[in-house]
Amino acid sequence: MSRNRLSILVAAFVSVAVLGACSKQEPAPSTETSAPAAAPAAATPAATAPAAQSDAFAFKIGALDAFALKDGDIDVANDGKTFGVGQPTADVAALLSAAGQPTDTMHLSIQPLLVRSEGRVLLFDTGAGEVTWARAGRLQASLHAAGVEAAQVTDIFLSHHHGDHVGGLLTHEGALAFPNAAVHLSAAEWDAMKAEKDVAALVAAITPKVAPFQPGEAIVPGVVTAVAAEGHTPGHSAYEIASGNERLLYIGDSAHHFVVSVQRPDWVVQYDEDSPKAVANRRAVLKRAADSGERVYAVHFPFPGIGHVKAQGDGFVWVPEN
Ligand SMILES: [Zn+2]
Repeated sequence: MSRNRLSILVAAFVSVAVLGACSKQEPAPSTETSAPAAAPAAATPAATAPAAQSDAFAFKIGALDAFALKDGDIDVANDGKTFGVGQPTADVAALLSAAGQPTDTMHLSIQPLLVRSEGRVLLFDTGAGEVTWARAGRLQASLHAAGVEAAQVTDIFLSHHHGDHVGGLLTHEGALAFPNAAVHLSAAEWDAMKAEKDVAALVAAITPKVAPFQPGEAIVPGVVTAVAAEGHTPGHSAYEIASGNERLLYIGDSAHHFVVSVQRPDWVVQYDEDSPKAVANRRAVLKRAADSGERVYAVHFPFPGIGHVKAQGDGFVWVPEN
């Protein structure tokens, strides 16, 4: 199975303790009625499942219709090997406990972002696909629940090439899962990805679709602008999505955990390939969000991952919107 190659890649960046239990740890979103003016397509999931359990959470970015699309979950043991590397696990546990979280495990959600813009359908990251190290692979079902089929997606924006972001690019059979979509990623990230032998099949499959961009480039003028945030990977990129005066900052893996990464941005994360650079850019992205007050979309924070970052002491705090 081609996904195994992705898992090999991911093995280099993640050593997670995947728990067998399927209980969701993230707080459920309030209700979809709290989201302003859901798109007509939102009627589909609302009619078939309670809104609070929907895997397609509708919201607006200015005039744009957007959906948080649940793909899955990753659980990471608080063992000093992944988050807070070099910190006493008791210190990590105390931080988690103060936030009302379990102290033995850190939960990461996975939720790619869908945005509709003037005839284009934009997808930010593609989830983990079928892998053993995450309970994932729900993106296509979530997309369907949002009223969108894979062939309608026109543009994919990758934050970086780790498996929980590129895992949904190919089908189980190894074909393009989004056959009509251009694949945008930074030129530096594309170079890094092409150098990874373990993802050669994925690279070959997406090569005709890839449109590399430069740091800070306006990829969809007036709508999507790249925000350089390297360090987690060589060309890791955040994205600013705009509509009128509204802004949403898609932070990718600039921050992974809504408590540990935000409140202690300087702590070493095993996933970060260049730790000093990743720490600096984690701080920069969080400071930018706190200073501007702009909304943030965090692909790994509790579903649906929409909220604000506020300064708190020497760090920051996550204030979820839902
Ligand atoms: Zn990730």
